[in-house]
Amino acid sequence: MSNAFFEIPIPINEPVKDFRDGSIEKKELLNTIQEMKKNQVDIPMIINGKEVKTSKKIEIRAPHNHKLKLGTFNEGDESHVKMAIDAALKAKKEWGSMSWQSRASIFLKAAELIAGPYRSKINGSTMLGQSKNVFQAEIDAACEFIDFLNFNASYMEEIYKNQPESSDGMWNRLDYRPLEGFVFAISPFNFTSIAGNLCASPALMGNTVVWKPAYPQIYSANIIMEVFKEAGLPDGVINIIYVDGPVAGDIIFKHKEFAGLHFTGSTAVFKNLWKEIGNNVDRYKSYPRIVGETGGKDFIIAHKSANAKEVSTAIIRGCFEFQGQKCSAPSRIYLAKSIWGDVKKNLIQDIKDIKVGDPEDFSNFMNAVIEEKAFKKITSYIDDAKKDSDLELLVGGNYDDSKGYFIDPTVFITKNPNNKLMEEEIFGPVTCIYIYEDEKYEETLKLVDNTSPYALTGAVFAKEQIAIDLANRVLEYAAGNFYINDKPTGAVVGQQPFGGGRASGTNDKAGSYLNLLRWVSPRTIKEVYNTPKDYRYPFMD
Ligand code: NAD
Repeated sequence: MSNAFFEIPIPINEPVKDFRDGSIEKKELLNTIQEMKKNQVDIPMIINGKEVKTSKKIEIRAPHNHKLKLGTFNEGDESHVKMAIDAALKAKKEWGSMSWQSRASIFLKAAELIAGPYRSKINGSTMLGQSKNVFQAEIDAACEFIDFLNFNASYMEEIYKNQPESSDGMWNRLDYRPLEGFVFAISPFNFTSIAGNLCASPALMGNTVVWKPAYPQIYSANIIMEVFKEAGLPDGVINIIYVDGPVAGDIIFKHKEFAGLHFTGSTAVFKNLWKEIGNNVDRYKSYPRIVGETGGKDFIIAHKSANAKEVSTAIIRGCFEFQGQKCSAPSRIYLAKSIWGDVKKNLIQDIKDIKVGDPEDFSNFMNAVIEEKAFKKITSYIDDAKKDSDLELLVGGNYDDSKGYFIDPTVFITKNPNNKLMEEEIFGPVTCIYIYEDEKYEETLKLVDNTSPYALTGAVFAKEQIAIDLANRVLEYAAGNFYINDKPTGAVVGQQPFGGGRASGTNDKAGSYLNLLRWVSPRTIKEVYNTPKDYRYPFMD
């Protein structure tokens, strides 16, 4: 064991490759995709480092092409949940006592593997399995994931360096212990990087983890597990299981050693899990840490001084990239009447050019929504909206699931700012615009603040600083990530720590030291060099 103070290399955001025609990265990626399509996989759960298969094979098909079977995964049951908990608890002692530099080294190596030999695989699996275009896959599965791993190692060092003062004759220390027990990570379908970070960040801090990904993300989750193994992660530190949420929850939330939940997904599911944890609180050794990043009803408000082209571009990229399936995607838009004419013209013109289709065709800006359940939910909003006299269809509204789950970018206009399209999370390429009188800007800001229970992301567009300042004040609690003259999506690790308040989550800011703090239980150590030998104090003389 070395006695030196090692320092984590200074993290730098991973540069986004542009996949231009003729580029090496494009060629490599397309080759990898062809290989993946040719070789169907049978994805095992990984428990205690071992591949676990079952007789229950569930098919994985590309959302944009029902005919394209990518493989199967092995669904588990209660027994696999128990095995995963046992494996996590068994691995805990050794992992928790490994030097933090060695733990960091494993995840830094994983970042390097994704940046290099696994880049095409992780991007290709995200394109095929989650129907992301190449740019959306690259900024998520490759760059954001690499950033999470590199930056978190550096935040860990920052946390550990933080030490208390010591008066004369003593030395005070803070020891950052991992939590006592195991952590349960539950991830959503929409971001490969979020899924990887949900299990990796507690593990980095010395915890062991049971990870349950969403079924539509298992195809890329499997590559994450491959990378962790290749990077030297010991068996049992992260155990991945493919079981239905309630099957896992029923066992995990009743377990004495359950130490924390790292969740990203919908608000309704998170609230139920919180209640279940509350109901079981007497069973636990410690109060579990509950971290959840949940739903959103994100907004854009444009002041009369805003530039119409900038606003319409932000609406298109914000609302429709990855088919609106980003928790940060805006879906309620408030526009000053005087700029509406120009914004409308731009929207109609630009949206007409948007191509929707297979991610392998690089000219497609949009691809398919994730699965049939989502397709049905989103299109039922569209059908209801077409019949609603509060709403007028500006553009889009068509959908087709004959080949894949395709929905056109769709914009409605409403005179009712409390229509359900302005209030409910749809999680698809459907947005709604409310036009306000220019002089009612402040009133509209208050409306934005009060309309939705969520508070994840939001953006204000204005040239006048006074309008920006007013929005900043009135909307102080309306968004955990607030953007000025930019779309409210695309947070970058190390630059815009991500998370929201109110019904959008516990706001523990993924991609920052704040999140990592939730996975440690500090122990204060006071060591005294001049221990008292007389109980009497001077004042007693
Ligand atoms: P979801 O809530 O349907 O599922 C999330 C995860 O919870 C999945 O793994 C699912 O299997 C699991 N789950 C469901 N019921 C469970 C139960 N009873 N016990 C244990 N696990 C259970 O969400 P989704 O459709 O995968 O993702 C979309 C949602 O995630 C949207 O609401 C979106 O806003 C949100 N999201 C939020 C953020 C953020 O940072 N705030 C990021 C990404 C996605």
